[in-house]
Amino acid sequence: MRTFALAGNPNCGKTTLFNGLTGSTAHVGNWPGVTVDKKEGIYKGGSEKVNIVDLPGIYSLSPYTPEEVIARNFILDEKPDGIINIVDATNLERNLYLTTQLLEMDVPVIIALNMMDEVEKKGDKIDVKELESKIGVPVVSICALKNKGIKELMERAVAMPKTRKGQTVVKANLSGAIEKAEKFYENKEASSPVFHAMKLLENDELEVSQKDNASLLAEITESYGEDLEAVIADERYKYIAANFSGAKKKKTEKAVLTKSDKIDKVLTHRIWSIPIFLVILFVIFHLTFSENLFFLNGFGDGWMPALVDDLGWDEDSFWTALVACFYDGAVFSPGVILTNLLCLVTDYITEGVSLLIEVCGGAAWVDSLVCDAVLGGIFAVLGFLPQILFLFLGFSILEDTGYMARVAFILDRIFRRFGLSGRAFMPMIMGFGCSLPAMINTRTLADEKERTATIRVIPFFSCGAKLPILTAMSGAILEVFGVGNVDLITYSMYLVGIVVAICAVILMRNTTMKGATPPFIMELPAYHAPGFKNLMIHLWDKTKHFVKKAFTIIFASTVIIWFLQSFSWSWEFLLEETEEFGMVNLRTDESILGSIGMLIQPIFTPLGFGSQLGTEFGWVFAVAAITGLVAKENVIATFGALAAVVAKQYIDWEGDDGDILAAVAMVEGTGITIPAILAFIVFNMTTIPCFAACATAKAELPKGKFKWTVLFWVVTSYVASCMVYTIGSWWWTLFIWLAVWAIIITFIVLNNKGKLENIKFWKKGRS
Ligand code: GDP
Ligand code: MG
Repeated sequence: MRTFALAGNPNCGKTTLFNGLTGSTAHVGNWPGVTVDKKEGIYKGGSEKVNIVDLPGIYSLSPYTPEEVIARNFILDEKPDGIINIVDATNLERNLYLTTQLLEMDVPVIIALNMMDEVEKKGDKIDVKELESKIGVPVVSICALKNKGIKELMERAVAMPKTRKGQTVVKANLSGAIEKAEKFYENKEASSPVFHAMKLLENDELEVSQKDNASLLAEITESYGEDLEAVIADERYKYIAANFSGAKKKKTEKAVLTKSDKIDKVLTHRIWSIPIFLVILFVIFHLTFSENLFFLNGFGDGWMPALVDDLGWDEDSFWTALVACFYDGAVFSPGVILTNLLCLVTDYITEGVSLLIEVCGGAAWVDSLVCDAVLGGIFAVLGFLPQILFLFLGFSILEDTGYMARVAFILDRIFRRFGLSGRAFMPMIMGFGCSLPAMINTRTLADEKERTATIRVIPFFSCGAKLPILTAMSGAILEVFGVGNVDLITYSMYLVGIVVAICAVILMRNTTMKGATPPFIMELPAYHAPGFKNLMIHLWDKTKHFVKKAFTIIFASTVIIWFLQSFSWSWEFLLEETEEFGMVNLRTDESILGSIGMLIQPIFTPLGFGSQLGTEFGWVFAVAAITGLVAKENVIATFGALAAVVAKQYIDWEGDDGDILAAVAMVEGTGITIPAILAFIVFNMTTIPCFAACATAKAELPKGKFKWTVLFWVVTSYVASCMVYTIGSWWWTLFIWLAVWAIIITFIVLNNKGKLENIKFWKKGRS
């Protein structure tokens, strides 16, 4: 099978084309640097199967960034049968700069002229035939987003001659020098001699590192001048300008400020950009979590109940329940409505299963295991899936339109002076989805210490798995204490995570992880409407991932939890048949789970959710925090699995499974306070992430840094949640914390200053 590599500038649509060709669902994002690794897939649409490799986006083949090294080495070492060079037609001249370098390699090249829809929309025209005749390799115009032109592209790609000799567009008075270098490499029997020759003349690090190469370069520069690199770059641009600036015919010549520029004037404004970002984020949270959409309190108060009355629905009817999914004195947000509808279904499932067990004559403990523990646990988490998806839809739209790239740009402007570059914000923002790809994405950070610091704080950007914790706990605050808004609390907790992350990075960059902040050069992609297919790919990926987890890790955990809470250490079965509740454990403190929980709960006492919760179930929060280490979904799944036991004993319970809300049962059953609930959320957000994230961190971090990272997570979560709990419970402790931080910061500043002076002094002494 032949292998073709996709190469092109960042954000030119490589991954979109890759997905279109191979039917895979790799992450597409409207910002440069989303694909860091190379990905492979198979194109089956043509007469022969073709292996397709998606390379990271690059501007040149010089080894300035890790991506450029990955792409270059792949082409040189693995020798693909051809390169599909994707060119963003809206940015033709800049994209062709890379093309001029690809053409120097001994490999067949075909150019895929992408984003032709945008060009046409603007009314511009590109003469593909002319382009092809001038450049000397096939050119096919496509629209990756709409899967247009792809078949033709692949047909012409496989029809290309199997070999091609590299050629350079650089001529001028350098021909002699190039020939000389080319001969030199030919004698060495290197592949792609022209490419190597050009790179040598460009003073390329990888090329010059060999001694005989370096001496040849020295020889050449003697007769041709020092600054060959600049001359060659200039030659490339001149060639492009001379041949292709005419290829694109502009309809009109005005285009002083494009639409994107105009939008950017507002969205990246020096002062307003941050408030605008916070408002946009809040709107997304409001639409996802609010129980009171647009604050239309009392909407329908007058006529809704009357209407329901008129229809003659009684309280227990399906229709009443259905209406309650949309409206409850106030209109719910779309996210909440979807969640309610799903819960309606899962409640019916639980009831049905319970009935089935009864009819089949299953023992009472089976009902307790299957309905209370397993289904209770899985559904407690699964119920949040619609909200998770809705939130991600919001994030995906922000990303795909190109706004998220601006956010990195805005944040870079603010945090650069503290040692945190905008490039580091991209993986952080990706962390809102899942820490794993985000940690891998940090490979693009050139400074190792910045990379380490970034990997450490990525888990603080609350991922999808942590969302149920935030939402369920804020829901419980509203339900039990009657205060707060779910959307506001969830939103503030997200912000707390971001603030903790930023503070932690700044702290690290000024103490243990000092280093230069590399310049942040990113081209802001043009705004465009989000692609429906891309959005659906994101959501489908999330759903698959989530459901898979529900029926593996969460399922297993709930069974284990049920088992541990049903038996004592001497294997006595603790569940008892009760008249009203069926099987219940009335002596939970004797169970294995209970005794372990009680043993570890003092650890969490300073955080508000430890042994001070004197009630019989006080230990559930400690247990949930521990089970959450496997997967963060487990926190709420644990509550779900135990909800029936707690609710049956502590809450005025009406015997209807549907009415037990896992988190509410825990809050009511344990008498936990609001500051302690918030501390619990913050703890889970900032502590050691799930197993999978730990494994990724271990693989991505420099050697020996992982154990310190774990310590960092433990300390950060402990301090952050202790602050939340103490300040929330006793406001005056704020001053104590401020004093503590003031001392720490003063110490750091003094320490750094001292070192700075030492260096100056040392320099003076030497001169
Ligand atoms: P990569 O960085 O080169 O892998 O680029 P992506 O595949 O991630 O795409 C970058 C952005 O360009 C995404 O927002 C895509 O939706 C968009 N895009 C890709 N192909 C096309 C196209 O043919 N037309 C338009 N209008 N947008 C496209
Ligand atoms: Mg990509």
